Amino acid sequence: MIQDISPYRLDTAYRDTVPAPDDRFFSFQGEDVLLREGEDGCRSLPSFRDLQYPAGGMPRQAVFLFRVDKEPVFLLDGAAPGCRGLRYLPVCGLKGILPGWAFFTGVTALHLNHWYGNNRYCGRCGSAVEKKMGQRALVCPDCGNTVYPCIAPVVMVAVINGDKLLMPRMTLTRWKWMMRKIFLDRHIGAAGDCRPSSKANTQEGAMKWDES
Ligand SMILES: [Zn+2]
Repeated sequence: MIQDISPYRLDTAYRDTVPAPDDRFFSFQGEDVLLREGEDGCRSLPSFRDLQYPAGGMPRQAVFLFRVDKEPVFLLDGAAPGCRGLRYLPVCGLKGILPGWAFFTGVTALHLNHWYGNNRYCGRCGSAVEKKMGQRALVCPDCGNTVYPCIAPVVMVAVINGDKLLMPRMTLTRWKWMMRKIFLDRHIGAAGDCRPSSKANTQEGAMKWDES
């Protein structure tokens, strides 16, 4: 489950900070995430040192995301330069990589990556927006319009009937499919394998008791 990031602590409070060479970052291309692949096949979240920037040079498009324990983690806003050992892989590839918190925090990173990508221009006057100092916000330099990430609170409820679990049937977009793979198939499924059967869950709006 998502709270299984423990014993790490995710701190999403925004901070104006610049990355150090050993700080780790997320970089996305569509639904793929940049990972480092060692010669032994082991995958991990890359650090800025892997980008092989010249001494003293760091990417200006690095955006602070959050801290895990005391470690800052960044987003590379834009494609990473091609470097040996780095490769974009499907975001589900975060499962099982190092560090252990990368899989869980990757969802938050992907959410913020979408938000930055979808808010490059002011919705009021069309000018290019800028990052606001000291806040997780974007501000228009021409009209002052300020936008913040949307909060979408979710409450997950398990409705059970004996050994059965009530599951929805719906048409899944690729995004929903990806989220299901991350949160349901990989975690709830591992605990009790309550996955809905595949063909039965492509109809819109229906609910059923799943006994699998
Ligand atoms: Zn504006």
